[in-house]
Amino acid sequence: MKLASRTTRITPSPTLQLSATVKALVAQGQRVFDFTAGEPSFDSPEVAKDAAYAAIRSGFTKYTAVTGIDDLKDAIIEKFQRDQGLTYSRSQILVSCGAKHTLFNLALALFETGDEVIIPTPYWVSYPEQILVADAKPVFLPTSESSGYAIDLKALEATVTDRTKAIILNSPCNPTGSMYDRQTLEDIAKLALQHDILIISDEIYEKMIYDQHRHHSIASLGPDIARNTIIVNGVSKTYSMTGWRIGYAAGPDPLIKAMGDIQSQSTSNPTSIAQKAAIGALRGGDAFIQHMVKELDIRRKAIVAGLNRITGIHCPMPSGAFYAFPDIARLLGRRFQGQSLATPFALANFFLKEAQVACVPGEPFGSPTHLRFSYTGTLEVIEEGLQHLAEGVARLE
Ligand SMILES: *Cc1c(COP(=O)(O)O)cnc(C)c1O
Repeated sequence: MKLASRTTRITPSPTLQLSATVKALVAQGQRVFDFTAGEPSFDSPEVAKDAAYAAIRSGFTKYTAVTGIDDLKDAIIEKFQRDQGLTYSRSQILVSCGAKHTLFNLALALFETGDEVIIPTPYWVSYPEQILVADAKPVFLPTSESSGYAIDLKALEATVTDRTKAIILNSPCNPTGSMYDRQTLEDIAKLALQHDILIISDEIYEKMIYDQHRHHSIASLGPDIARNTIIVNGVSKTYSMTGWRIGYAAGPDPLIKAMGDIQSQSTSNPTSIAQKAAIGALRGGDAFIQHMVKELDIRRKAIVAGLNRITGIHCPMPSGAFYAFPDIARLLGRRFQGQSLATPFALANFFLKEAQVACVPGEPFGSPTHLRFSYTGTLEVIEEGLQHLAEGVARLE
């Protein structure tokens, strides 16, 4: 059988191999300190569950409008008005089956052969793969830990060509936890308008920020850039509702319409019950977020302090999201039982097999010098896991 060429263009994530090993170890009865989770460990908020129970009991269990029910679109519109001061109409909102699905609709509606899409590295694993599925070309813009993963405007300008269709921004960022400041966003906005480049702003971690940091949406910087931006967001991370599969986009009418058309011929509407749950979360979930972020902040400080106590590991304090992204370059090339551990992937495998610590290697995020540790687990798991990690490092030659 000859498969479509797009299947050979994309690479299945190497993280899957790792999570298969984690599952196998757990199935054998081994204890694993799991830092791989891409989701909060908290239960979904009661306001969301209650809305879902009510939806089931009242028989709200049929097809809905493909692009989402009006009441949910209104709750999303209220959110943008309240949090970002942005005004959208219903025709500028699309609700999909998770933000990943939102981004996939976007890729299919916007990109084609010859298009280039700029992605700052390190990046969320799915961006380049979705661009490749849509026959376009991801163009990477390296950023570095030493400058807080800030975007250098000159470097950005140098990556722009007449084929550049869009730039993907993700602030706070998965995997680095870094955020863009207002000035950077203003500079990027100016450049994007000059060159007629669409901004794709993935703001899924918007509410998970710490210390004095503030989230700025690039779309909120003025009416021109608002018209030139599509915001992607969802309830997965903010309300710990990953399994409900509700994501949404807000942006220019024609683009939202095209994305909705693609959705109408693929998944149809997101689950009716989950849409009701999302309304509950968006309208009544503030207290839940505050509680969760307070807890995550404690874990954030614990994991960063613990990682920095281990010689050979250096970890900056993340500003947002729930990932620590330590630099482990100094451990690369160290040996275990005669074998050199030359890559983050090899090191992550070593930690899993020899220290019962599961973390995600940097390669699929575009970093050959880092590991990603999710800190959504309990403080006990974090403290004990770091102890094991330190013992593992001590065994390296
Ligand atoms: C988790 C995540 C998403 C997708 O979330 P959904 O569960 O599909 O809503 C999108 N972008 C980033 C950066 C993420 O970390």
